[in-house]
Amino acid sequence: MAKYKLEYIWLDGYTPVASLRSKTQIKEFASFPKLAQLPVWGFDGSSTQQAEGKSSDCKLHPVAVFPDTTRKNGVLVMCEVLMPDDKTPHPSNSRATIPDDPDTWFGFEQEYFLYKDGKPLGFPCGGYPAPQGPYYTGVGYKNVGCIAREIVEKHIDICLDAGINLEGINAEVAKGQWEFQIFGKGSKNAADQMWVARYILTRLCEGYGVDVEWHCKPILGAYDKPLDWNGSGMHSNFSTKYMRETGGKAYFEKLMKAFEKNIAEHIAVYGPDNHLRLTGLHETQSIDKFSYGLSDRGASIRMPVNFISNGYKGYLEDRRPNSAADPYLVAGRIVKTCQSVKI
Ligand code: ADP
Ligand code: MN
Ligand code: MN
Ligand code: MN
Repeated sequence: MAKYKLEYIWLDGYTPVASLRSKTQIKEFASFPKLAQLPVWGFDGSSTQQAEGKSSDCKLHPVAVFPDTTRKNGVLVMCEVLMPDDKTPHPSNSRATIPDDPDTWFGFEQEYFLYKDGKPLGFPCGGYPAPQGPYYTGVGYKNVGCIAREIVEKHIDICLDAGINLEGINAEVAKGQWEFQIFGKGSKNAADQMWVARYILTRLCEGYGVDVEWHCKPILGAYDKPLDWNGSGMHSNFSTKYMRETGGKAYFEKLMKAFEKNIAEHIAVYGPDNHLRLTGLHETQSIDKFSYGLSDRGASIRMPVNFISNGYKGYLEDRRPNSAADPYLVAGRIVKTCQSVKI
């Protein structure tokens, strides 16, 4: 038997975006615990905007488990919040809004800024660095500074050790801005992994005196050039079994009509302040327009380069979700819109 450190992770009740919360309990197991062995736990919901003080108990139900190699016998336990009856999803439980579909796949591209002392890593005190251009996929101290590389490298290793399906990273267009990608099969899987990967990154940065800035437009402008710094997205790539195996132009056009009809429903869950980012500039479409196009990074939905030549088959990229969006809400909305189209 060994004592394992179980880090229960959940989303709180803050709006417009939930924050990550976690706490540790120590339990003995003969070997690394499986999901079904992990006990239900609880917390004080009155401290997380999830309950009133006089009836404060909320329940934590484990939904995914990952090894945590940063701690001896460490375990990361992603949880859903349920009501005290252990059945009803708490109103903050966005995971419970996702229709179950093992054959829907998601790939999320998470962009973010690393912040130190109130500004992006590498920004000089009281001013701006050289304009955007060399930073995207850049190398060298003047492009990426000196701590960022260590942070993103460690993030890769901790995620891979945890069995998280992180597919890559890159330095992004603005200075101090980065991206990582997560892929998962199953309508809830990639979003579970994304929340744990966000947790790992946020915790890792503590030791560097750095915060992760998830806001989609943390730097509004520079000098007399408003909006001259890119915002952060969470491009959401998705495919259903039908899109991958059958597809076709007629189905694709029906699907795009359904997306167009539900613009407001999608934008409502694609992250706060998205009007600051979806301006029609910086590889985005305007927030109130809907468009699609082959390889078009100015469209709401981009078809990858081979999509049409493959008979309108494969995955699509919804470019509108922003960096602070809840991947559970994004996945849930995309699945619902796909399911609204009759095959
Ligand atoms: P770009 O930056 O050009 O938009 P990335 O390589 O950063 O592209 O991201 C592409 C994403 O598409 C990855 O997250 C990948 O996992 C995802 N993806 C690839 N194939 C599929 C698929 N069949 N279904 C859903 N997502 C997919
Ligand atoms: Mn990308
Ligand atoms: Mn990107
Ligand atoms: Mn993309």
